Amino acid sequence: MKTMTCREMGGDCDMEISAETSAEMAKKMTAHVMESHPEVAEKMSSMTDAEHDVWENEFHKNWDAAPEEK
Ligand SMILES: [Zn+2]
Repeated sequence: MKTMTCREMGGDCDMEISAETSAEMAKKMTAHVMESHPEVAEKMSSMTDAEHDVWENEFHKNWDAAPEEK
């Protein structure tokens, strides 16, 4: 289990989100953003493929850097 903040994933607050896998984290982050930051969700959904690749690279870098927790 790893914990990342909303802000680390391009969001707008310091809420901590925990997940077992990076895919689960991305899913939880997407759900949180759609609920709490509609303007960020809007921005993410209108990303170009290149911009999305940048986001994903950054996301995986932060995921790998996050400490593993029980
Ligand atoms: Zn947030």
